[in-house]
Amino acid sequence: MRSRHTIEVTQPHMPPLEEYVALLRQVWDAKWLTNNGAMHRRLEGELCEFLGVEHVSLVANGTLGLCLALRAAGVVEGEVITTPFSFVATTHAISWNGLTPVFCDIREDTLNLDERKLESLITPRTSAILPVHVYGTPCATEKIQAIAERHGIPVIYDAAHAFGVRSSGRPLVDFGDFGVLSFHATKVFSTAEGGAIICHDAATKRKIDSLKNFGIEDEVTVSAVGINGKMNELQAAMGLAQLCHMAEATAGRRRIAERYRESLARVSGLQFSTPRPGVTENFAYFPILIDNCLFGVTRDGVHEYLRAHGVKARRYFYPLISDFPMYLGHPSSQADQLPVAKWAAERILCLPIHPGMGMEDVVRVVDSVLANRNEA
Ligand SMILES: *Cc1c(COP(=O)(O)O)cnc(C)c1O
Repeated sequence: MRSRHTIEVTQPHMPPLEEYVALLRQVWDAKWLTNNGAMHRRLEGELCEFLGVEHVSLVANGTLGLCLALRAAGVVEGEVITTPFSFVATTHAISWNGLTPVFCDIREDTLNLDERKLESLITPRTSAILPVHVYGTPCATEKIQAIAERHGIPVIYDAAHAFGVRSSGRPLVDFGDFGVLSFHATKVFSTAEGGAIICHDAATKRKIDSLKNFGIEDEVTVSAVGINGKMNELQAAMGLAQLCHMAEATAGRRRIAERYRESLARVSGLQFSTPRPGVTENFAYFPILIDNCLFGVTRDGVHEYLRAHGVKARRYFYPLISDFPMYLGHPSSQADQLPVAKWAAERILCLPIHPGMGMEDVVRVVDSVLANRNEA
């Protein structure tokens, strides 16, 4: 048992090294390492095409992308309504910008911000809504949009999990005023560190491009308090090398997800998402919800058993962001405000999924998950 290799929850899909080196050679020849170089421009263009959007602004990472999108949306004070069931960066970006996060509970079926509980949280101080398409599952985009329009506030989607996902044919990153992607090494498409902001018009893209470059307009004009949020040429080249292989990487993930769905179907006490009508998935994560009473083992019990057997599943997202010390004092962090988020955080476990996994790995994960359950 112990001598077998560890199965990581995720692993970057590495393009053939020669392909990356060929691009690096061009960077070496150009002697241009950052500030909107040739690789940067090419990747922005190719991503527009790949994602099916008009305006992509590359950034140094997804967190800065969220910070920049809030700025570009003109959100400089007040409260931002968001979900506690996400990676901590979602709320950190709000706080880092000097804004106050307000947590909204999530839906049981999508684990995304519950639009039915959204409007009661809106006050005169509310300046934006920042939902997350968790695991690439679409939020209730139309209803959220209608609420935002009614109150005249922008919607910024944390689309860190949603690379390549489509909903009724429309790219998920295209919804809201801004969609923000992360290209961190753990994401389906990666530039080691990196990200992008998707917006809807050229003037807004220019604004983002200026803000990510210290607010510089031209040689003698600085028009805003900007920051350094630029992606460099080495990162952009990595993105170009990866993009060519996205189709095969996604096909690899799909095979694993399908096998999990097959093997775990009808197991009492286990819940997981099945394909949704009209949604093209990216298979970025394979989250399951474990009901201790029906399954016979707690989520933490399964997590520990997997770890002992070389399978690194992760409890994304536990603890809830609202339970971290810097957010715990907020009125909206109180547990009775967030019953569904609490419920999900206690039960969630993300199983390993990445194109480097073989079917024998999937079998090993499934066998380990089911090893100690109640036999029906
Ligand atoms: C990864 C991630 C981020 C942060 O992206 P970085 O590129 O690591 O800064 C933000 N939100 C969510 C939901 C994420 O998963």
